[in-house]
Amino acid sequence: MSRPVIVIHGGAGALARQAMSAEKERRYNQALTGIVEQGQAILAAGGSALDAVTEAVRLLEECPLFNAGKGAVFTHQGGHELDASIMDGSMRQAGAVCGVTRIRNPILAARAVMEHSAHVMFTGAGAEAFAFGRGLEQVDPAFFSTAERYEQLQRALADAAGAILDHDVPTAEDPIDPDRKFGTVGAVACDRHGHLAAATSTGGMTNKQTGRVGDSPIIGAGCYADDATAAISCTGSGEVFIRTVAAYDVAAQIAYGGLSLQAAADRVVFDKILALGGSGGLIAVDATGNVALPFNGEGMYRGVGYVGGRPEIGIYR
Ligand code: ASP
Repeated sequence: MSRPVIVIHGGAGALARQAMSAEKERRYNQALTGIVEQGQAILAAGGSALDAVTEAVRLLEECPLFNAGKGAVFTHQGGHELDASIMDGSMRQAGAVCGVTRIRNPILAARAVMEHSAHVMFTGAGAEAFAFGRGLEQVDPAFFSTAERYEQLQRALADAAGAILDHDVPTAEDPIDPDRKFGTVGAVACDRHGHLAAATSTGGMTNKQTGRVGDSPIIGAGCYADDATAAISCTGSGEVFIRTVAAYDVAAQIAYGGLSLQAAADRVVFDKILALGGSGGLIAVDATGNVALPFNGEGMYRGVGYVGGRPEIGIYR
């Protein structure tokens, strides 16, 4: 039997206790709670896991607290390049876009690629032409900019020049050290039919080079779903998540090794990612509604909501 559930994340990283205040924590908790509740409402009304993760990630993109959509980090060159992906576990259909700069909600573009094209991934201008052709909203690239992210870029640029040490005290509005966190967003869900879906969206990493693509839009690395095993969405050092094929590895260990969801997810996050010098976390759900949310840093913005239950929100370990 399946217990319908939605799980979301808003990135993982190092905690900066000194940047924490009750007010900041309240804002994060409130945002995460509201988005989990929206996902729960979709599932409670009989909606699909696919619809629940699409809407949860769209809301996370709209929230400037998180590094996806509005509030996305800046590239080295001072722009924003957004990546997103989605996968439906029932037919293992998938869609993704990367390097887009003018699509308001990249996750809707990823879903459009999945549902309305014969392909899985579109990049840059081609992705935008496709999305706008499907009627998705176009914004000026400056729409994604926020003052906090701009300051973060300035600190990262100064850091590259050797002026700021790695343990620099964070000044921005974020309890997880904004210079050492990964703010990608994601959602996974199991619906009442036991169908699974996963979605991931990101602005990437602060100060990334133009054209750099991380794991988030890569099916199998930052996002994967298969009803037979699990749905997974990742956040962390994208290059390592690509090299470890992290999301797929969770599913593969369940399929080939008979591991439990928790054991498979823990092994990826605590053994495989750390072994290659990476950091981060993931969220995962299986078709019975078991969930796992491992992360190897000090915190991960996260929320879980079973249908009929209260949202459980967490930031710290
Ligand atoms: N994984 C993302 C990337 O490498 C970053 C993140 O999780 O925030 O683009």
